Formats: sequence, C-alpha cells, structure tokens
Amino acid sequence: MGLRPNLLTRRAAGVASTTLALLLSTAAAGVVPAASAFSAAPGGACAEPTDSHANARVRPGAAGTHEPNELTAKQVRERDADLAAALRERANYRAGAGATTLATVTIPVVVHVIQENSTRAGGNIPDSLITSQISVLNQAYAGGTGGAATAFAFRLDKINRVTNPSWYPIVDGSSAERSMKSSLRVGGKNTLNIYLGELSDDLLGWATFPQRKLSSMDGVVVLNESLPGGTATNYNQGDTGTHEIGHWLNLYHTFQGGCGGSGDGVSDTPAEASPAFECPTGRNTCSATGLDPITNFMDYTYDSCMYQFTAGQASRMLTAWNAYRAA
Ligand SMILES: [Zn+2]
Repeated sequence: MGLRPNLLTRRAAGVASTTLALLLSTAAAGVVPAASAFSAAPGGACAEPTDSHANARVRPGAAGTHEPNELTAKQVRERDADLAAALRERANYRAGAGATTLATVTIPVVVHVIQENSTRAGGNIPDSLITSQISVLNQAYAGGTGGAATAFAFRLDKINRVTNPSWYPIVDGSSAERSMKSSLRVGGKNTLNIYLGELSDDLLGWATFPQRKLSSMDGVVVLNESLPGGTATNYNQGDTGTHEIGHWLNLYHTFQGGCGGSGDGVSDTPAEASPAFECPTGRNTCSATGLDPITNFMDYTYDSCMYQFTAGQASRMLTAWNAYRAA
C-alpha cells in the first residue's frame, strides 16, 4: 500500500502518474470476457503468475515505483481461467463423492513473528497486537464495520516467534523469503499463515492468491507495526491484514483494470482508474456509474478511510474458497 508518511508529499504525484501509465497499458491490452478465458485455460497447469506476490499493499509512492506486483490483463485472464477449471474439478468431485459446499468458514491462523532480536525495533511486537489484529479481521469480515458480511471468521491457533536476522527485514521475492516460508509454513490450504516483520521497499504487505496446488509460499506478509496500535502512522488499525487476506481469498484491487473491461471481476465495486491514497472523498475517476470505492478494503486508502467489503466481494471469496481452499 504505500509510502512512508514522510515521503508522502513529494512522492505522491510521481507515483500516481506511474501507476496510471501501467493501468492504461493494461486497459489497452483489453480484458477478454470470461467465456473466452475458459477456452484459454492452460490445461491443468498452474496459472499463477510466476511471481505470485500479485498483491502488495503500498503506501503512496513506495520506493518511488509503481507497485511491482500489480496484475496484468493476461494474469487476470489466467487466474479467471484457473478458477473456472478449479470449480469444474470441484463440481465433478462433489458429483462423485457428495461433498458439500461450505457456506461459513472459520479459518485457522498461525502467526509467525519474525524478529531480528528481542527489541521492539527488532520485531518483537507484543501478543496483544496480534490478538487485536484477529479481532479486527473478525469485525471486518463479519461486516461489523459497515460493509457486507462475508462467510469468514478467523481463529488464532498459534503465535510462532522466530529470531533470525537473515530473514529481517522480509524482502519481497527474495531467496530469504522463500527460505523463511519453506521452513515455517504449516497446515493445509485452509490454514492462513501470517508472517510479521519489517518489510522491504516501504511495503505494508503482500499476499499470494489461492492456487490449486498448495505452495510453500502460500500466505500473507504484513508489516508488524501495521497491526492495531502499531507505529505505522495512518496504517496502524489493522487493515493491511484485512486487505492482504482479501487477496489470499482471491480478491483483486478495486482499481484492477482501471475503467475498462471487467475490472476487479466484482459487479458492485464501481470502476476506478487508479489507486486512491489518503481519503479522497468524492473521487470519481471513471465515467461509469458510481464514485470510486475508496472506502473498500481493497483500495489503497488510509486505514481510517476503508471499512467495507461488498456483497459481490463476499461472494467471490466464498466461491474461491470452495474452489481452492476447502478441505
Ligand atoms: Zn493489495
């Protein structure tokens, strides 16, 4: 999601234009309708983008670059096709085995606290912030902050504290990140592994989308001080966790695809040309009906500004759960 607050003023303009350029090129490439995407399904192959960190949350102007992991139109098509294939597999499985589709889900959560040393600056955040984070997630996903209720609840199963300076800060896409996750990840596809630490490139977090084959990289990485009561000014109410888990449950950003095409694949989130930062009330970047969804958890605004998922997003997450993560 964004920049360090002290960089916000001087970075904001440059980032916005860079991001817009990226999105314009995506729109120009076009987004094919779902029906066409089906036929393009890469038969059985894993269609996850090579770099599966397709969903970082950044502060405005992070590292002076566009978000490195924004999905291209091609990646969206591949993911849509993969979801369709996964749903077909599940339908066949259900027809044969009588398995039921879940309507409510309690997700077991394991939190790995990566520390450089025993100091707070070295990553040693208290358990109280973690339990507060779980409460924030449960409120957000239950619609308790003003949005639609989703099927999901979260149950903290374990806090795993790891002191390893070679994993701190956590660097997106690094061999150290792969080593960390390979060593620490636990559970099946339904288990949410959260990694907390200082992060590279001023990032607030990143996540993996669901895949048919469980990867040891599966999970979400969140800036430790973004937890409720942390020190990340404007981003310390726990909504980075909410946002990243939205990706883990197959949501795209509300600005995915810009004003054109199928956008984020959800009909009740109005199209948005580019990420919104801070809290720009009344922003309206596309001619289609509806103001920009700046209060949606899948935009880039301040934690104090975002408070909802939509019914369409809740439906998309549950569909993906039953396709990818249900036992
Ligand atoms: Zn994101």
